[in-house]
Amino acid sequence: MGFDVKQFYEEVVSCQKCGLAATRNTVVFGEGSLHADVMLIGEGPGQKEDEQGRPFVGPAGQLLDEMLKEIGIQRKEVFIANVVKCRPPRNRDPKPEEQEACIGYLRRQVAMIRPKIIVCLGRIAAGVILKRTVYMTREHGIWTEKNGFWILPTFHPASLLHNNDYCMDARADFRKIAEKIKELGV
Ligand code: URA
Ligand code: SF4
Repeated sequence: MGFDVKQFYEEVVSCQKCGLAATRNTVVFGEGSLHADVMLIGEGPGQKEDEQGRPFVGPAGQLLDEMLKEIGIQRKEVFIANVVKCRPPRNRDPKPEEQEACIGYLRRQVAMIRPKIIVCLGRIAAGVILKRTVYMTREHGIWTEKNGFWILPTFHPASLLHNNDYCMDARADFRKIAEKIKELGV
């Protein structure tokens, strides 16, 4: 990590800007390649993430790793981050004011990494990135080009663990990531 990235990292991991600071164990900054062409954005840390300080390391993360592997991508090639960096208690949805307090960090991460492709994992991430309400059942797998980024909403892997209905659809969405990488020549 370069000096300014380290300073940014230190700022985030010591953040007290919202109520989630009181109940978290660890701030989950996000991880991966700073030169990633693909950035994946989740909602917020779960229990395992809060324990380990790393994104998507619990059951949803295992499924995410598997789905990436199926399209020939290794986790270390991408950058993985979340809308909120601290775990909401009992994995509830992050409140609007928590998202508001935290979103500047995600925006700075996007500006720092400048990915070609942004994959929104779930309704919350998609809503924040596209700045509108996203209905995943009908909008998953549909690309939006915005500010020079190719944005793809898809199902949150945790939702796939509890409901098999969308597994095929989610995998089809992931194949679109591989197609876009090829198309863009990145
Ligand atoms: N779910 C998320 O949205 N993010 C994580 O990091 C883990 C689970
Ligand atoms: Fe700060 Fe974000 Fe954690 Fe809230 S969730 S304390 S804004 S890092």
